[in-house]
Amino acid sequence: MDLAKKFIHTKTVVSDSGTENVSWEVDIGALKQARGNDWISDYPQLIERDLKEMSEMFPRWILVGGKETNPASCSECGEYVVPTEGKMMCLACGEPYTLNIRALIWTGLLPVQISGVEKVERNIEKLRERGQLKLPRVSGFLLVPIRIIYPSDWPHSNPSAYYTQEFFESLGTGAPSYSHEYHMNGSLSMCLFSRWHEMSIRDVIQNRIAPHALAQVKLANGERPQKWFNE
Ligand SMILES: [Zn+2]
Repeated sequence: MDLAKKFIHTKTVVSDSGTENVSWEVDIGALKQARGNDWISDYPQLIERDLKEMSEMFPRWILVGGKETNPASCSECGEYVVPTEGKMMCLACGEPYTLNIRALIWTGLLPVQISGVEKVERNIEKLRERGQLKLPRVSGFLLVPIRIIYPSDWPHSNPSAYYTQEFFESLGTGAPSYSHEYHMNGSLSMCLFSRWHEMSIRDVIQNRIAPHALAQVKLANGERPQKWFNE
C-alpha cells in the first residue's frame, strides 16, 4: 500500500456568499483519537482500503466523527467534525472539537432508482409541486442520505447503517419500526446481515445497502417483500 497516498474529502457548505466547496485531507492519525476504535491502530490497512475504495466509487462521501450513532456537529457553525491536521475539527470553520468522539461515520448520498416505480414517482412529484421534497432528485434517481458506523471491533462485526426520515417521507410511507418484512431494525436502522463476513465499506454500500434501499422503494410501491428480500 502506498503510504504517501493522500485522501481528500470535499463537502459543499452554505456560506454568506452562497455555497462553496470545502476540501480537507483525511488524517488517519486524527482518526485514532476516536475512543473505542482501536482497530484503526490495529488494522491501519483497513482504513486505508476503505478510504481508497470510497474515493474511487463514492468520491463525495465523507468520513466524520460522531458520538453514538449521530455525527457530531461544530458548536460554532453546526457543520460536521472531521479528522484533519492532527485533530478532529469542524470542516467549515476549523473550530477544534473538544468533546469525545466515539464513532466514525461514513455519510453521503446514494442514488436509488425511482424511474418506472409509478406510485413512488407520483408521490415525489406531488411533494415537489408543493415544495416539500426534501431530497435531491437527479433524472430517474433519488439521492438518499445514508450513514454507516464502524463497530468498535471492526472488521469482526458488521457496521450499522441508517436512513433518514426524509427517505421514507419521499416514498410516501412512514419509516417502518422494527420489521422483519422490511428488514428494518427500528429507528431508521437497516437490517443488512444475517451472518457477517468481512467486507469493505464500499462493498457494504454496493452489495447490501443499495439493494436494501431499492427494496424500500419497491415495497413503498406496493410490491411484495419476498420478491426483494430473498432471505
Ligand atoms: Zn464550525
